[in-house]
Amino acid sequence: MAIRNIVKEGDDVLRKKCREVVKFDSRLHTLLDDMAETMHKAEGVGLAAPQVGVIRRAVIVDVGEGVIELINPVIIEQEGEQTTAEGCLSMPGEYGLTKRPMKVKVRAQDRNGEFFEVSGEGLLAKAFCHELDHLEGILYKDIVIRMLDPEELEE
Ligand code: ZN
Repeated sequence: MAIRNIVKEGDDVLRKKCREVVKFDSRLHTLLDDMAETMHKAEGVGLAAPQVGVIRRAVIVDVGEGVIELINPVIIEQEGEQTTAEGCLSMPGEYGLTKRPMKVKVRAQDRNGEFFEVSGEGLLAKAFCHELDHLEGILYKDIVIRMLDPEELEE
């Protein structure tokens, strides 16, 4: 495994619509392993392939319950809403208030191409939405209600 460089806001790669993953091969597995190591080192809860410069529909999420890998993910159900602080590893140190669904159900493929469904609530739902947006070239700043001052994050 290896730490990859996280692309920062302003890089065009973050604005691309990502392509479907069609090969579930060792190259994909290496990418996913590297993304997990990179995300954990950066203490993030999610990372999308374009954030490491790969324009493919692959994301990982870990809200403290283990890494969830989502290949070619699609939100198939959503419910409720939550308005909370959101950040992004491509915009370190910045946070904004966003409105997201409280619950989502995602259909995706695993690293071997098998389809599965996973549901998330609260932080996990927010992380799924945030990472899936990256695959469309959308950043949370595009939907932010307002940016937050650092002192507003202290509870
Ligand atoms: Zn992000």
